[in-house]
Amino acid sequence: MLRAVSSLNCRTRKIVSLRAFATVEASSTNDPIGDDGRHQILPNDGSEEYSETMVKRRDGSHQPVEKLRGFVNYQRNPEPYRDPLHRVQDWEELNPTIEDDLKHSAVEQQVQAARCMDCGTPFCQTETGCPVSNLIPEWNNLMFDNRLSDAIDRLHSTNNFPEFTGRVCPAPCEGACVAGLVDSPVTIKNIEYSIVDRAWEEGLIVPRIPNERTGMTVAVIGSGPAGLATADQLNQMGHKVTVYERADRIGGLLMYGIPNMKIEKDTVDRRVNLLREEGIDFVTNADIGKNIDMNELSSNYDAMALCLGATKPRDLSLPGREASGVHFAMEFLTKNQKRLLMTKEGRLESNWEKENYITAEGKNVVVIGGGDTGTDCIGTSMRQRCKSVTNFELMPQPPMERAPDNPWPQWPRVYGVDYGHAEVQAVFGSDPREYSVMTKEFVSDDDGNLTALITQDVEITNEGPKAIEGSERSWPCDICILSMGFVSPETYVAEQMCLEVDQRNNIHAFYGDYRTSIDGVFAGGDCRRGQSLVVWAIHEGRGVAEACNEYLIQKQEDDVYATQSSGSLANF
Ligand SMILES: Cc1cc2nc3c(=O)[nH]c(=O)nc-3n(C[C@H](O)[C@H](O)[C@H](O)COP(=O)(O)OP(=O)(O)OC[C@H]3O[C@@H](n4cnc5c(N)ncnc54)[C@H](O)[C@@H]3O)c2cc1C
Ligand code: SF4
Repeated sequence: MLRAVSSLNCRTRKIVSLRAFATVEASSTNDPIGDDGRHQILPNDGSEEYSETMVKRRDGSHQPVEKLRGFVNYQRNPEPYRDPLHRVQDWEELNPTIEDDLKHSAVEQQVQAARCMDCGTPFCQTETGCPVSNLIPEWNNLMFDNRLSDAIDRLHSTNNFPEFTGRVCPAPCEGACVAGLVDSPVTIKNIEYSIVDRAWEEGLIVPRIPNERTGMTVAVIGSGPAGLATADQLNQMGHKVTVYERADRIGGLLMYGIPNMKIEKDTVDRRVNLLREEGIDFVTNADIGKNIDMNELSSNYDAMALCLGATKPRDLSLPGREASGVHFAMEFLTKNQKRLLMTKEGRLESNWEKENYITAEGKNVVVIGGGDTGTDCIGTSMRQRCKSVTNFELMPQPPMERAPDNPWPQWPRVYGVDYGHAEVQAVFGSDPREYSVMTKEFVSDDDGNLTALITQDVEITNEGPKAIEGSERSWPCDICILSMGFVSPETYVAEQMCLEVDQRNNIHAFYGDYRTSIDGVFAGGDCRRGQSLVVWAIHEGRGVAEACNEYLIQKQEDDVYATQSSGSLANF
């Protein structure tokens, strides 16, 4: 006890002296972040007194990392993406790799975790924040204490695939972070990403093969994040799960949709391989309702989960729409991804077909519609070396700060610069977005090839967007990519099964219940809630699994009861 007190005294003395030293330094710069993009660290002089890492605080002093007032002492410092001018030259992930100087050090990760206040009511993990209710303050604490193994266990307890969300989630948790009320929010998404990536690197994520099997079988249709989360949960509950996917690869929009630079496909495959080792079967090229009869399939399983996604794109029926050069975003992105997956060591495989590819190389590109999909089309066009890229948005530019009707802890609807916008700015010198613009016509040449778009400016009125007379403009355009969202799932599965759909043609099942109009058939993810986010798909997949498990337990009990009853009847 005495020893502890004397060492504490010793540290207090040292902090005081360091504060004095640091105040001098603070007069030149108060910024605790150094040129290397991390909180500055006092060089270790090797003396015993300096045995702990001394990190610069906002007040200019250098002291050991502490958590009690971490949000006061340290600055929000998200790990940056790679330099836009470099990254547009390749298809690799935006995030820096472990060899990259931009990658945050373990100390910076600890400093960022120290900013979490562990507040009494962590809004970040409520539904306003993280849809899967990640135990954010808990794993921030564990990361601060350098307990990686416990941190990944806590993270996995609510989120099946943190390596997906850590890369692509727009982080509504950060919009709801209490520190964000008075300062900048904690870098929650970065911390999630660093926990799971370090856990993979250090071999902490290994197959968990269920000890017991229930004998019940489930077919999951669709292998996006909703289908994978459903399958993972049900498999861990002991049921035998088979996932059917119509594409040639597993992953849904994580595989074909969200491009390589946001999530490399090895990351998706790594998780799918783990699920396979854990006992889940995957069947690809199985288009249920087309090349496999839906009703026949359902008769072979005890339950079925529909996680079909919402892949029917919203079209733009305007004069000239039939012009060659107008494409849906998913066609453009999927063909590009397929080409990348068929490229080995810079060479295309021999069975790659050129006609199955849409290139923006040397062309004027217009992307109609914003959001993640619009940004991904911009980023893809940039990597294909387009001549120019413009992005039309119907709505006006969002405010720089939260509007009064958009208070904390809601998702902040404010102006932001996503990776694709930053790349266009870096290469062409200006942001690609044109706000309050409505497309009126597609113009083509005598051969039917798109050459221009005609637009009109719009103003937002109480009745909705209204075109402004005399504001017509013509934009040179060789490729137009339609990225205006998705209207619903494709209808053939629901039709074949005579399933109830809602007014938007989504499969009808109540949120939190996930039972469809057919007994033993459940639905979740984009096909139930409409186009959304990966994290919502995981949340719904977990919910589908819960509901399905309840159903299977009841079914098993009913079967036992029926057998016993028929047995006793036979005896009688
Ligand atoms: C271009 C793009 C970028 C996006 N970027 C982001 C992002 O950055 N962050 C984010 O959080 N969200 C993003 N999203 C949204 C996110 O990808 C979706 O919300 C999420 O993937 C939905 O998951 P899901 O499992 O419900 O459906 P999906 O991922 O769409 O998976 C459904 C799967 O079901 C399969 N399927 C459908 N019908 C059948 C059938 N009859 N038989 C067999 N298989 C079938 C489909 O082929 C598909 O693989 C993006 C979406 C797009 C289109
Ligand atoms: S899944 Fe998304 S919302 Fe949840 S903690 Fe991670 S980044 Fe935040």
